[in-house]
Amino acid sequence: MSGKVYLVGAGPGAPDLLTLRAARVIAAADILFHDALVHPEVVALATHAEVIAVGKRCGRYSTAQRFINKRLVDAAARHATVVRLKGGDPMLFGRAQEEIKALEHAGLAYEIVPGVTAALAASATLGTSLTQRGTARSIVFVTPRVGEGLHPGEWLAPLMAADAAAIYMGAGQAAAIAAAMIAAGKPAATPVAIVENASLPESRQIHTTLAGLPTLATQFIGPAIILLGAQFTARGQYAQVEDSVENIRREASA
Ligand code: SAH
Repeated sequence: MSGKVYLVGAGPGAPDLLTLRAARVIAAADILFHDALVHPEVVALATHAEVIAVGKRCGRYSTAQRFINKRLVDAAARHATVVRLKGGDPMLFGRAQEEIKALEHAGLAYEIVPGVTAALAASATLGTSLTQRGTARSIVFVTPRVGEGLHPGEWLAPLMAADAAAIYMGAGQAAAIAAAMIAAGKPAATPVAIVENASLPESRQIHTTLAGLPTLATQFIGPAIILLGAQFTARGQYAQVEDSVENIRREASA
């Protein structure tokens, strides 16, 4: 027998941001492999599946990708419905292509079920549109993080060229990111919003500038996304923190 493998997006965190298709596929799973960031309530939808956690939390223990690929292929030999559940959308910073390649190599049937990616959830949390008519026509989804044994990618050039950026997996390297961008000519006063645990009740958001980014990014322990661009100034109740941002800006440039 050979089963079908579903690469499923679990969304950014809140279980009810799951698509109906994802919920249906998860409920039908015979075996389910999930990342650390997936909400337990989503995993719990797999009522009759063997459930296996495969790590994947930035900087912590994670099961080697090659081993995950192999486990998916092996599982399809024994189970009709194999689900690989990933945070956000599987096709964005999710190493989906490596798994797809392994599945294709093994001649297995597979299907991708999209999910709400972190940048979209963060945009919703902030109430700030990622694109804005006339002023923000482009946004790059970028990560400065590179895999083991790989050369640092050219993350800076696309970041400089676009009107706005959603920076994934960047909080740990915020100082280097900010320094590189400022050195390349991005104004130090460019607005920055950091959203942690977007879509979850414990979500936090901080507004700062490129100059203030290194100081503030260190505060986050949960998954955090950095949004950069003119539209990400503090709005509504968050505008009150402008004062402290001003202080950070002054400290940063002192
Ligand atoms: N495939 C995922 C991204 C995986 S990379 C997606 O489409 O969202 C992991 C990074 O995503 C984290 O380091 C963080 O930058 C971001 N992230 C994931 N969930 C998040 C959340 N709820 N809030 C803020 N950032 C999040």
